[in-house]
Amino acid sequence: MTTVALKDVTKVFPDGTVAVDNVSLDVASGEFMVLLGPSGCGKSTVLRMIAGLEDVTSGAILLNGESANDLPPRERGVAMVFQDFALYPHMNVSDNIGFPLRLSHVEPTSRSEQVRQVAAALGIGDVLDRKPSQLSGGQRQRVAMGRAIVRRPGLFLMDEPLSNLDSGLRAELRAEISGLVRELGVTCVYVTHDQAEALTMADRVAIMRQGVLQDVGTPTQVYGRPATLYVAAFLGSPRMNLLEAEVYVNLDRHVALHLGDQVLYLPWNDVRARHVAHFHGERIVVGIRAEALVPVPGGTAGDVIRGRVRYLEHHGHESLAFLDIGATAVVVDEMAGQVPSGSAVPNGLRRLVSRLTGRGGAHSGGGT
Ligand code: ATP
Repeated sequence: MTTVALKDVTKVFPDGTVAVDNVSLDVASGEFMVLLGPSGCGKSTVLRMIAGLEDVTSGAILLNGESANDLPPRERGVAMVFQDFALYPHMNVSDNIGFPLRLSHVEPTSRSEQVRQVAAALGIGDVLDRKPSQLSGGQRQRVAMGRAIVRRPGLFLMDEPLSNLDSGLRAELRAEISGLVRELGVTCVYVTHDQAEALTMADRVAIMRQGVLQDVGTPTQVYGRPATLYVAAFLGSPRMNLLEAEVYVNLDRHVALHLGDQVLYLPWNDVRARHVAHFHGERIVVGIRAEALVPVPGGTAGDVIRGRVRYLEHHGHESLAFLDIGATAVVVDEMAGQVPSGSAVPNGLRRLVSRLTGRGGAHSGGGT
């Protein structure tokens, strides 16, 4: 297993593009780290620098605590899997998987035994004689994984390995890959722009934007307590409600959030009230997830946000209500009210309720 550390790493391409801007990141031994961000944010460049396929302009990349800046790719003990699989079309599955072993002059009997073991682990033991053109997309991807695994690397680098597959297969393979990598105990840095992939597979997620690292944490941390407004807006579907509010603290009773012409009171026993209290007298942005807002048929003054329902969206597993509250739009997960008590719905914010009137399609009524 391998540890990876990036120390103030910057990459400027010859045309002046700053692809990676002063990024520092530690990946622990055996950790599954996902680099997540929109197209062009620099995640592939980070991966390619770890692999040694790109030079570092400034800063250092450490593998197992030693600078790898001047280490050629083949001496880094890494295996890389790309989105286009890059299998040799004229070789069968067995030879494709065994190719790295042949390069390392492993003798044929041992080679075929190792190939057999890896293929069995990946569930492709019965297609060893086929050519890549005779395989499904999922099987080709498994062969590419097999070729990476067979060398028993200390570090896997994966660049959007599932992006050429259809969504059903992607969901299946993401569980398989993360399971397999964990079973092998290998450190993994995995690049994707797909947040579902990131949040389901990662031990920790590192979110990048325009070359800059925005946040690093477990999926729960980055989703629940995003470090920046960018991450708050980027992660999650529907998008987190971001509401401008002025904060006023009443030490005896509550913290009042003034949202336009409405006031929302957070009681002192709500831990969020204490976080927000630091901003007494200031204008802040409050982030509330749709599933943390509970629609109720009524409410006492002060503990509701009143909104006018613009439209409802049904997604099968959830129904979203889009409301206007004053000048701001808010999205509410209608099903949130049906979640049994003791569930993951944040408690304090369950008070921030909205009254929904009527159902389905365009809406006439505002709430009260
Ligand atoms: P994607 O998800 O689309 O692959 P990414 O987040 O992996 O994007 P990179 O491929 O790392 O992004 O690219 C980061 C930035 O560096 C982009 O603006 C890209 O255009 C630029 N870039 C990448 N390679 C080069 C190069 N060889 N020369 C100049 N600019 C480059």
